[in-house]
Order: sequence, then C-alpha cells, then structure tokens
Amino acid sequence: ASKSDQQLISMHEFAAEMYHHILMNTEEGQSALDYLESRGFTHEMIEKNRIGWSLPEWNYMATALQRKGFSEEELVTSGLAIEREQSNGFFDRFRGRIMFPIMNENGKVIAFSGRVLEQSKQEAKYMNSPESPIFQKSQVLYNVHQARNAIRKNRKIVLFEGFMDVIAAGKAGVHNALATMGTSLTAHHIRKMKRFAQEVVICFDGDDAGWEAAKRAAIALNEENFKVEVAVLPGKMDPDDFIREQGAEAFQERIIGKPHAFIAFAMMHARRHKNFQYENDLLQYIQEVLQLLAGRSTPIERDLYIKQLSGETGLSEEAILQQYRKLENKSIGRSRPEKPVENVAKKESKRI
Ligand code: ATP
Ligand code: MN
Ligand code: MN
Ligand code: MN
Repeated sequence: ASKSDQQLISMHEFAAEMYHHILMNTEEGQSALDYLESRGFTHEMIEKNRIGWSLPEWNYMATALQRKGFSEEELVTSGLAIEREQSNGFFDRFRGRIMFPIMNENGKVIAFSGRVLEQSKQEAKYMNSPESPIFQKSQVLYNVHQARNAIRKNRKIVLFEGFMDVIAAGKAGVHNALATMGTSLTAHHIRKMKRFAQEVVICFDGDDAGWEAAKRAAIALNEENFKVEVAVLPGKMDPDDFIREQGAEAFQERIIGKPHAFIAFAMMHARRHKNFQYENDLLQYIQEVLQLLAGRSTPIERDLYIKQLSGETGLSEEAILQQYRKLENKSIGRSRPEKPVENVAKKESKRI
C-alpha cells in the first residue's frame, strides 16, 4: 500500500482501539455493552471482532485524531470526520453507535459499520464508512482475514447477508463465513471468492428481501461456475436469530448441513407466493423452472426436476419435456455475456 494508504489504515487502527476501549472500560460504554450481551455477544466475540462504541459527542474522534497528528485532509478522506459547513472544524461521522471494524485481508481496519442501539425511524440502523482509497464497498468482503483458513480447509464458503450473521456463525462454530457490506454481490466479490474456493453455501435472511437477494447471488455465482447451494431459514428469521433461538448444533446440522441444490432452491423460490389452484400461477411456475433448466442443467438434473415438476403440478412428464425442448432450442447458441455480474443477475430475474 502507498504511504497515504498506510496513514489511513493507521487512523482506522487508532480509532478502532479507542472505540473498543470506550466500550470495554468506560461508563459511557456500559449501555452498549449491555445491549451486546443481551444479544448473546460474549467478551471473547467482542474482543475477536474488535467491537467498540462511539461516544455521542460531536467531535470526540476528530479531536483525538488531530491530537495524534493526522491532518484535516486525512480526517476527511478517511470518512471518520466530516467538515462543518457553517463554521470551522469537523464533526464525527459515527456518534453513539456500536462500532464494527471492517478489516482488509491482512486484518487491518479499513472502515467501520456503526449500529444504533435502538432502532428508530429517524436514523438508519447501520451506517457505513464512505468509499475511500482503502475502502471500496463493492469489493470488500467481511471476515476474509479470519475465514481464509477455514474456507480452504472446508473447500467451501458460507455467504451471509450481514456481518452480524458472520459473527453469530463464528460463535456457532461456522468459521468459513463471509458477507458483503450490505451491497449486492458484485463481480469483484465473486473474483475474490474464487481465490479461496469453488463452492458456496448462501445463507441469507428468511424474509422476502433475503430470498430475492439469495436468488440473485445464486445465479451470479452459478454463472461464474461456482457450485452453489442455498441454506434456507424458517420463517423470516436470519441466521443470527436462528442461532440464538435454536442453538449452534441445530444451525450446523439443520441449516448449514442441509442446503438445497441451486436448482431446487430456485424452484422453491419460484413456488413462493404461488397458488397452483390458479392456472396462471401454475403455468408461470412451469415456465420459470424450465427456463432455468434450459440454461444450465445436466441431463440428470433435467430428468430429476422434470419428474419433480410433474409430481407438483399433476401434468405429464412428456408434456413438460416437450415444452422444455422448445425452450432449449431457443437457448442454443446463447453465449455467456461478459457483463458485470449485477447486470447478468438483473437480466436473469427479469427473463424468468
Ligand atoms: P441486526 O440483527 O443488528 O438487525 P442484520 O445483519 O440482521 O442486523 P439486516 O437488516 O438484515 O441487518 O441487514 C443486513 C446487512 O445489510 C447489514 O449487515 C448491513 O451491511 C446492511 N444494512 C442494513 N441496513 C442498512 C442501512 N440502513 N444502511 C446501510 N446498510 C444497511
Ligand atoms: Mn435483511
Ligand atoms: Mn438480518
Ligand atoms: Mn439480524
């Protein structure tokens, strides 16, 4: 890294230490510590993930950083401070938030995500550092430095929606865990993941947003030749909720240990919110699944899932197979577009 990047990293390391100290050793940090404990965070987890607390004061961190000798320009570039508009000076970007450091692949702090203690309508639940020379949201994966060895050992990545889930998974013994920083999965992320493994288990939140995001991520990863599986959570739970309610063993055995194959998951996704008593829903479902198969299935998968379709809909396998052949002929010669993954994913979901 360049000298100025090093300087930005030093600022973040300094800030992380200070936030962590405030959380662990001061009265001001007590309510945040209580909150974390109420969510099942142990001291060990807090230490390992270097979690902290930012004071609600206007410019506590900006002042501390300036006292350390960092320049005004560095303050602003880091994103830790914001320049005042009306008067001289700076105020802190993060105030009164639980601070989660985001580390680069060497374990150095390059950004933060700050969570409010109590959810309200006025404030966003999470606030992230802005883009900077050392932090590109669309490229960074949370937890790479800690997960790398476990990923290589398992030959598999478990991908979560949020870093809270990664932390909870770690506590539950799932160490090959990564998450994006709240963005959808990009080609950059996928390229990074490829360096570590060829297999992914996607484990996103059980709400509609999570299902949609999981479908998009699954398609994007499948297009890049990952072996994709999807672990589904009951109801609208997220992995962290599930682990707290059902425990580590249930999470490992019933969720992570029993993922659905990509196409089986896509079929579940297509069935969601459909009622086969309505002809339109039924026909649309068949069409969606066949389109998915025409693009990417092996002969065995085709046979398996056409049988399943027939069972689910009561239509004959012959009729479904005929329909499938039509779609397959249309898709012959279709080449894989060399486009950013997000575009590919969007196109897929529209076409389906
Ligand atoms: P918690 O359990 O504390 O509510 P979560 O991980 O379940 O956290 P989600 O609402 O499921 O939070 O969001 C998943 C991810 O999406 C977060 O880790 C964060 O990166 C991102 N995110 C959520 N809300 C926001 C927001 N308001 N601003 C920026 N990013 C957000
Ligand atoms: Mn969510
Ligand atoms: Mn969640
Ligand atoms: Mn959650």
